[in-house]
Amino acid sequence: SRQFTRPLNDLSNQFNTLLSAVAGADRVFDIIDTEEEAVDEKEAAPLHNIKGKIEFKDVSFSYEKGGDTVSDLKFKAEPGQSVALVGPTGAGKSTIINLISRFYEPDEGLILIDGYDSKKITRESLRTQMGFVLQDSFLFQGSIRENIRYGRLDATDEEVEQAAKAANAHSFIQRLPVGYDTVLSQDDAGISQGQKQLLSIARAILADPSILILDEATSSIDTITELKIQEALQHLLKGRTSFIIAHRLNTIKSADQIIVIENGQIIEKGSHDELLVQEGFYHNLYTSQLEKKMLMNY
Ligand code: ADP
Repeated sequence: SRQFTRPLNDLSNQFNTLLSAVAGADRVFDIIDTEEEAVDEKEAAPLHNIKGKIEFKDVSFSYEKGGDTVSDLKFKAEPGQSVALVGPTGAGKSTIINLISRFYEPDEGLILIDGYDSKKITRESLRTQMGFVLQDSFLFQGSIRENIRYGRLDATDEEVEQAAKAANAHSFIQRLPVGYDTVLSQDDAGISQGQKQLLSIARAILADPSILILDEATSSIDTITELKIQEALQHLLKGRTSFIIAHRLNTIKSADQIIVIENGQIIEKGSHDELLVQEGFYHNLYTSQLEKKMLMNY
């Protein structure tokens, strides 16, 4: 299965070790603000109340000198739209996410957020309005309540529970002997992989970001939990711009826009219906994977 490229990997690795040590830790990104990362441009200013319009204008980028990792990317996501990034491992999906999150800056071209050059926006203000639901769900040693509340540290217990309800997590939490006080530890307190995802969805719902990054899990999950996750994701995605590294066919089909990437280039984009009519790469993928109901690991 695929892995996020380095910044997001660092994030998940450091999270587990650090967060258990840092009581009342600040937001995730304070942890990974490394010296390596570029500083904001002098004229950068915070952009509050981001609506979530995101546009790539002829963006090219490479991690190292030489050929481009991604080249000439052009696409536009309107506020509230969901965009599924589809393509083989190594195609450049995580790199696009790294650029949107500004772990890296384009070598060429522009990324516009609500019409503003993203370089003119402070990273801090951008990231406090972005949410991440990743494969490794960033759960730390602490109670379920604390883990959900990490999405918004000043949330009340009631708000935590409302988020858990919207994420289809409340019922399983309630069935645990000590409910929201259950401590998640290394041995996971008997929480399944799918249930962990519901918790991280609850956290993201509580955080209420305008821009959401979702790296859909590739692990197989029982059908009932899978349905719960799909339903929870519908709640989470509603009203925010989301970029999804999608592996589930249902997720891809219901995206407003599918962007198919191969070798760092966009080879097709459009809705599911539009792409089927084109009878190109996506059509072939869809028809060949239909029986498995999943697009992962192809
Ligand atoms: P995907 O998410 O579609 O699997 P990635 O965006 O992770 O693809 O990778 C695109 C290409 O960039 C791959 O060839 C990968 O090896 C390379 N790559 C990814 N991260 C780095 C990095 N931090 N440094 C150098 N090359 C990288």
